[in-house]
Parts: sequence; C-alpha cells; structure tokens
Amino acid sequence: MSTDLMEKIVSLCKRRGFVFQSTEIYGGLESTWDYGPLGVELKRNVKEAWWRGNVFERDDMEGLDTAIFMHPRTWEASGHVESFADLLVDCKQCKKRFRADHLKEKKCPECGGEITQPRHFNLMLKTHYGAVEDKGSVIYLRPETAQGIFVNFDNVLTTSRRKLPFGIAQIGKAFRNEVTTGNFTFRSREFEQMEMEYFVRPGEDEEWHRKWIDERLNWYKGLGIKAQNLRLRPHSKDELAHYAKACTDIEYLFPMGWSELEGIANRTDFDLKAHSKASGKDLSYFDEETKERFTPYVIEPSGGVDRAILAFLADAYREEVVRNEKRAVLGFHTALAPVKAAILPLLKNRPEIVAMCKAITADLSRLYKVKYDDTASIGRLYRRQDEIGTPYCVTVDVDSLSDKKATVRDRDSMKQDRIGVDKLVEYLNDKLGGCKKQ
Ligand code: ATP
Repeated sequence: MSTDLMEKIVSLCKRRGFVFQSTEIYGGLESTWDYGPLGVELKRNVKEAWWRGNVFERDDMEGLDTAIFMHPRTWEASGHVESFADLLVDCKQCKKRFRADHLKEKKCPECGGEITQPRHFNLMLKTHYGAVEDKGSVIYLRPETAQGIFVNFDNVLTTSRRKLPFGIAQIGKAFRNEVTTGNFTFRSREFEQMEMEYFVRPGEDEEWHRKWIDERLNWYKGLGIKAQNLRLRPHSKDELAHYAKACTDIEYLFPMGWSELEGIANRTDFDLKAHSKASGKDLSYFDEETKERFTPYVIEPSGGVDRAILAFLADAYREEVVRNEKRAVLGFHTALAPVKAAILPLLKNRPEIVAMCKAITADLSRLYKVKYDDTASIGRLYRRQDEIGTPYCVTVDVDSLSDKKATVRDRDSMKQDRIGVDKLVEYLNDKLGGCKKQ
C-alpha cells in the first residue's frame, strides 16, 4: 500500500463527510478529528459490531461505562504517574521534539541538527477539578479505559455473580499527549478505545492469551479485513509495558506500513493487586470450588476505534473500471456500511415516482439507515453511493407505478433484481441480516 492511498482516503473522508479536522474554521487543531454525518454512522457501526461480538454473543462478558475523570490516586497505583512516558529527544537547532525510539540515527530527521539526551515525558493530560486551581485539584484525563474496569472489579463481580473466567468490556474516550502524531487519525491526542479485561485463574493465563489473540484476529477478518493485511507481532521482553508479562500486537498494513491496530496483553495480577494495596479494598476472588482466595490474572485485548475505522476504510477502498468508466468503491462489510440502502427516483419530475420513493424510504428507515437522493442523474447517484460504500440502491421507474416493483442494485456485482415493493424489507433483511438498527 502507498501514501497515495492515504491521500485518497483523507480526501474522500473530507469530501464526503466522514472525517473533518477539529476546529477547522480556526485553522484546525492538530491531531484531533471530528466525525461527520457518514463518519459518525461508520463509528457507531464499528462499536456496535464490537459490542455485539464480544458482549451480546458471549456468555462470559459484562459491559461497563465508567467516567473519564477518576480519583488521581488511580494513576499513582497503576504506575501511570511514574512510568506512562515516552523517551523524547529535542533538536538543539530547530527545537522540534521526537520519540527516541522513532529515530534511526542520532541526529534530527528534519534538519540534521544535534539532538539532546533522551528525557522522560509523561503522556497524561492534566486539568484542574473543581473551582480551586491548586496542586491538590490536579486531575488527569484517563489515558486508557482499562483502569475504570479494574477499580470496579468488585462492584461488577458481586452484582453480576460471575465466576472465573469472565470479562468486563468498555468502549470510551481516552487522552494522551502524544508527541509524534500524524498519519491522519492513526495517532491522535483524543481517541476512543474498545477494551476488555478478561479475568482468569493464574496458570490459565497463557492459554487464554492465545485464545484472545485468535478471537480478535477473527473479529477483524469477519468484518472483511483481508487476511494478508493482518499479522501478529509478539513484543520482545524489553518493549513490554511495566504491567505486562506478554503482549502481542495485531498489526495492519496501513498505507504508511505495518502498524499496531490492537494490543493483546497479559497484565497478570498487577493492576488488581496495585489497587488493593493503594486503596485498602480487597480485590481478590474466592473460588467456591477449591475454597481458595487469590487475585485473578487478566488478559486485555485493547483496540482503538479510530484505528479500526482507518483500517476498515483502507481495506475497503478500491478503484475499478466498469464499462469504460472509473469508479471508486468502499466495499465495506454490510454491518459497517454507514448507509445500508439509497432510494433513487429515475425521474424526479414525476410526483408519483417521488411519492413511491418517499414511501419506501419511510418504510425502510424504521429498520435501517437509508437515504433518499434525487440531486443528480442515475449514473452519478450510483457512483456517489459506491464511493461511500452503500451496499444497495433501490430505484423506482415508470414501470414501478404499474407493476409495484423496484430495481435493487448490488454495489459489488452491480447485478440488478426486480423486487416487489412490499417484499423490499424481507429482501434487505435477508441480504443485510444482523445489521438492523438497534
Ligand atoms: P502506539 O505505540 O501506537 O502509540 P500503544 O502501544 O501505546 O500504541 P496501547 O496503549 O496498547 O497503544 O493502546 C491500545 C490501543 O489503543 C492501540 O492498539 C490503538 O488502537 C489505540 N490507541 C492508543 N493510542 C492511540 C492514539 N494516540 N490514537 C489513536 N488510537 C490509539
């Protein structure tokens, strides 16, 4: 893949309303992004597919939604205050700052200038909580959603009456004062995570780690990501985070090269023990069968919503020539497509045709995100829908008025079916099964 593809995706995202630069009218805020009308639907669909696959369809997972603000002692106990840092170097000449592990040589990659010795730079963003701005009111924007799960371990365990192994899943915003940003939404300072903490008996952790790596890889493949664009990268011992015994990244072949899409870590009992010690609240587990009390180990599949979206966009984008005409297509899996069907009148100046289209739109919109469009010729309308990944286009023509049938065109094969208007819901349910509006 190439940077050319990245440029095409960035441009398509802006032009069609998937992703905009944050606060664009003021010149834009670097590394922060807004999701537009189509982007917000795509994002909802990605999160929905994750929640469905990992929470609804499993009998060993509970959901949770915790606050972004947490007691500051959380981050001392978790080790983030001390060690959630990157090693940075500054260029003495142009004053630019770089991550030491991103440099190939010991000089500035921009101007060739001399660089400083590496220094630790904490990635947590701080603000003040409450009316008084003093040292005691400092609070952090959470840099990961995981800690909200750990501090609620006992609340969830007792209210859900779970037995090991079981997991807790959460989707939410996280914030990191990243130094090296860029590559569109790949690394931003405000982003969303989809994380699970899966609690197991010590000794069973390595087996569960392997199972979760397979599960997560299959989730991406099941939503259409091509197998050849995914690979696993186990971490070497010296790059492991302070809490991890092992970690394997799922990498995707992004337009800029292979990069982390999701990390699956074996966090051992580090976090539960650290919070037990710091808070005084016992976060251990009593096993009824063996009558033993111990602190569970935890496997953490941690993915980014925004990175997943970028991967789904890059993987789905294709250009092809059909009947001597070039078309750009986002071949999204139907569960992810922002718009499931477009309803298009062949003649917009025939009120009966428009009325029939509007009735179909109203009917389908009870189940799916659909869109009526009559603002161009039918060829243009099809191209527009292909470019945003709409799997089906429903067209109403003069014959429809007498035979009460519409033409349904498939995005990928471009095959057309003539379907009774009263059978459209059934037809689309069959084709789109499993991605109905919630
Ligand atoms: P990287 O080394 O690429 O900065 P990381 O190893 O620090 O990532 P984790 O702490 O493992 O990332 O976070 C889990 C997931 O959250 C990542 O796999 C990624 O999908 C997502 N994520 C982390 N940081 C960012 C960010 N700054 N912007 C967007 N997504 C992120």
